[in-house]
Amino acid sequence: MFPDLRRESAQRTVELDFPGYAIGGLSVGEPRPMTYEMVDAAMPFLPQDKPRYLMGVGTPEEIVHYVAMGVDMMDCVLPTRAARHGLLFTSEGRLTIKNARYATDDGPLDPNCPCQVCSRYSRAYLRHLYASNELLAQVLNTVHNLAYYLDTMRKVRQAILLGEFAIFLSGVRPPHLSVP
Ligand SMILES: [Zn+2]
Repeated sequence: MFPDLRRESAQRTVELDFPGYAIGGLSVGEPRPMTYEMVDAAMPFLPQDKPRYLMGVGTPEEIVHYVAMGVDMMDCVLPTRAARHGLLFTSEGRLTIKNARYATDDGPLDPNCPCQVCSRYSRAYLRHLYASNELLAQVLNTVHNLAYYLDTMRKVRQAILLGEFAIFLSGVRPPHLSVP
C-alpha cells in the first residue's frame, strides 16, 4: 500500500520485458479508495501496448471504472460467489432472490438480459429453488451473473471501438465503496 514501492515494482518488472503485467496484492480487504490509489500509482509505468491485468476485482460498476484507468483484464470470484448466496447483478441494480417479494413475481430476473436463465425462468421460480436449497438455484444464478459480467465487458469493448467510452462511463453509477 505504498505508492513509491508500487511504482518501483512496476518499473523493475517492465525492465524484464514480459508479454503482459499484473497488478496484485489488492482487493484483500483494504479500503476501496486505497485500491484505486494503488492502481493509479502503478498504471502510468506499465506499457500501454501490453495487457495490464488487475487481480481480484470487482463489482460490475468497478470493473468499468478500472477499464477507464487503463486496465485490460480482471478476474474475480464475486459473480459466482454472490450467485451462490442468491445475490444477483442486473441492469436494474442488485437483487436478493431470497426476498419474499419475489415469491409471486412471474417476471424475468433481468428483463434486459438475453441469458438462458432470464429468457426461461421467473423470479418466483428462482426464489423457490433458492428457498428449497436446490443446487440448481446456485447453477442458474451463476449462469446469469456470469452472463451479466460478460455483457458488461462486451458493452465496454463496443463503446471503446465506437469512441464512445466516456459517454458510456458517465452512465455507470460510481462504484460502491464496499463489496457486498
Ligand atoms: Zn440473465
